[in-house]
Amino acid sequence: MTEERNGLFAGIDVGGTNLRFALVDRLGRIRHRHDLKTEIKAGREPFYEKIREGVGVLRSAADGCGATIVAAGAGIPGLIANDGYVHVSVNLPPLDGVNLREDLQRITGLPTVIANDVNACAWGERLYGAGAEFSSFIMVTLGTGVGGGLVLNGSLWTGIDGVAGELGHLTVEPDGRPCTCGNRGCLEQYASATAIATSARAAMSGGSGEEAISAESVSEAARQGDPRALKIFADAGRYLGIAAAGLANILNLEAFIVGGGVAASFDLLKDAAEKEMRARAFSVPGERLRIIPAALGEDGGLIGSAALAMQAFGNRTGV
Ligand SMILES: [Zn+2]
Repeated sequence: MTEERNGLFAGIDVGGTNLRFALVDRLGRIRHRHDLKTEIKAGREPFYEKIREGVGVLRSAADGCGATIVAAGAGIPGLIANDGYVHVSVNLPPLDGVNLREDLQRITGLPTVIANDVNACAWGERLYGAGAEFSSFIMVTLGTGVGGGLVLNGSLWTGIDGVAGELGHLTVEPDGRPCTCGNRGCLEQYASATAIATSARAAMSGGSGEEAISAESVSEAARQGDPRALKIFADAGRYLGIAAAGLANILNLEAFIVGGGVAASFDLLKDAAEKEMRARAFSVPGERLRIIPAALGEDGGLIGSAALAMQAFGNRTGV
């Protein structure tokens, strides 16, 4: 097939727990996947050995369909410079201060792109998902934390230092909950899965079973009509709406795309988010902005990382 003759791309999704690899074609389809555990506590060199192993598996799979890998892209959580230098990655401390792009190129022998994981997701959604019909949008992921990735005029906007789009650390409550970043009242403290569970524990204080509370269990309770659980999701949606209103007024975006684990409960957040956004934004950008769920699910980062490699090196043939 044509896309195989043109070569395939390796997508690598580096999480705090899972290290996932995928062989992706030019249409954004996953042709093969391989999952490992990151186990970063073992240190940098054992981690690099896993990268070597995973890319080796993808190479064999590419060989098996008569294709070669043109380039690799890796998405990692943290503040990543445009040249692949890792300023800081809270979940992967052995990578702090490392130029991961240079190291992965050396290890794999492939031209490599490194991106913040949510920027990679945003680019995947832009090419193959919920962002395909928009040229300017923000992707927000609601998981353990809250991440953001900005696409402006059809290009990823990473900022002068590569660290733009950190929507999770936008202040939405001036004297609010302290955040791991050192600020207080960050969106992450109100709209992440962690925050939803924290809010539920606070609402139940003194009750039994607090330890078992998770964003999923709060979602289940909301679906059964529990008013406290419904309010917790509405509150999270309201804070998202405050952030969305600011973005609408500043950037006049077309869409605010919600991904990450909490997006499974998107319907529980949506109305409150839209209502708050429309109440705060000017009418023209407020009516323009659509708040919608992501389309690629947990493969967004894998597909997006490969798509970034395709963008950077796609005119080359396989090696
Ligand atoms: Zn913060």
